[in-house]
Amino acid sequence: MVSRVIPVDRFDLVIFGGTGDLARRKILPALFRRYCAGQIPQDTRIIGAARSDMDCAGFRQVTADAIREFGGGRGCEDGTLEEFLDCIQYETVDAKGDMGWDALRGRLRDGVTKAFYFSVGPSLFGDLAQRLRDFGLADDHSRVVVEKPFGHDLETARALNATLAQHFSEDQIYRIDHYLGKETVQNLMAVRFGNVLFEPLWNAQYVDHIQITVAETVDVSGRGMYYDRSGAMRDMVQNHLMQLLCLIAMEPPARFEPDAVRDEKLKVIRALDPVDYHHIVRGQYSANDTQASYRTHVEDPRSTTESFVALKCNVSNWRWAGTPFYLRTGKCLKERSSEIVVVFKDAPHSIFGPDAGTHRNVLTIRLQPNEGITMRVTIKEPGPGGMRLVDVPLDMSFAEALGPDAEDVPDAYERLIMDVIRGNQTLFMRGDEVEAAWAWTDPIIEGWRRRGEVPKPYEPGSTGPEDALMLMHRDGRKWRDIRA
Ligand code: NAP
Repeated sequence: MVSRVIPVDRFDLVIFGGTGDLARRKILPALFRRYCAGQIPQDTRIIGAARSDMDCAGFRQVTADAIREFGGGRGCEDGTLEEFLDCIQYETVDAKGDMGWDALRGRLRDGVTKAFYFSVGPSLFGDLAQRLRDFGLADDHSRVVVEKPFGHDLETARALNATLAQHFSEDQIYRIDHYLGKETVQNLMAVRFGNVLFEPLWNAQYVDHIQITVAETVDVSGRGMYYDRSGAMRDMVQNHLMQLLCLIAMEPPARFEPDAVRDEKLKVIRALDPVDYHHIVRGQYSANDTQASYRTHVEDPRSTTESFVALKCNVSNWRWAGTPFYLRTGKCLKERSSEIVVVFKDAPHSIFGPDAGTHRNVLTIRLQPNEGITMRVTIKEPGPGGMRLVDVPLDMSFAEALGPDAEDVPDAYERLIMDVIRGNQTLFMRGDEVEAAWAWTDPIIEGWRRRGEVPKPYEPGSTGPEDALMLMHRDGRKWRDIRA
């Protein structure tokens, strides 16, 4: 199999916050990998912008260091990195003042696609948007890319949307949720809508329940202050888990086009019932012999912010009424693992009798690690002794199925940045989607505050609080084990 790389036209990309953590760990290495793949023309300008006083040579050094540290090593030794660095420029700019804006405009060309990546805190989005217009850097064809968090609640998300809308139209705004750029997430759509096999079964008549797990082993040390103001609900559920839920639950769009897809996702969010507070478990990791507690990491001995959430929700529409969706995410858990598990119902009648046993079909979509899709099917246990049934996996690990091409699968940021340049918004969140997601999560968070709820402690390296297991057990179901 040969992967095709379609080069994009030359472009000017300004990375506001070019010296920051996200730019160094993700954005610059992603651009370099696309350059190595032959997708980015040599005649491209990538311009870092921040307050730090630095010249272009200084920022090229920052870029080279970032690529060596986070870029995976390819292309660093054969001269490609030096070539790529020719595309890199820098301008000292203050988002909150007039410094540097005229000079930055001087670095941009007419007649090429211009994109502005806001890799800075959200409090600067409005200032940047306004100055891009006031100083004449942006026109009606320019694009702006904004990072999460997109708001802290519905009110702040609306305000942010309104601020951006003063300067840019919706089709110029690219709200990143990097989960949507993952290969498997797109494969989820390919599997659902490219095969006749699944879609007829993809409903409450055949699906018993769906589980979505995003488990992390990392704790919050190093970003405790930021995390403690948001918590797992705002940091993970409102965006990443809800986006995954939308892709699993949405109706087939008429075309794979930005608004057709986003219209269907929005309908799913709007069909979500409010969550009964008995169906939510909040957790916070405690300390053990090797690991400090959440409260130590955020330096607040009374913090009641959750580092874990598990919940059960319902999508109230014809397709899904009666099929619960279970979502869980947390820090400091036993494995780093993200997956979606679709558990089908039992066969309506067993012709093999009670001794044969029954096994459910289970479709697992793994996002990380080892991206891939597994379907468990029932077969006869080999050997003599009558008909006994076992379930075995039909496994499609991308690494195995695609061979060496799997290594060339671009990571989420590579794909998403190239989509910005191509002007394709399919994998970006629309303003109304973000607001609808907040409208669903806000009452949950407000309910915790009103009831003065304190998260349940859980052991670091575990699967979360005991109550999260009970959430499923009560319904006669169980979580798939968190495993790498
Ligand atoms: P960071 O490391 O604190 O970097 C912030 C950047 O903004 C720096 O380059 C800083 O440079 C620049 N900056 C700050 N004030 C400025 C101003 N007034 N004018 C111009 N530039 C200014 O933050 P980060 O971790 O990269 O995060 C950036 C954004 O991405 C945030 O919204 C964050 O929530 C989001 N995000 C980050 C990650 C991640 O993994 N880091 C993941 C998802 C989303 P100077 O100080 O030199 O100005």
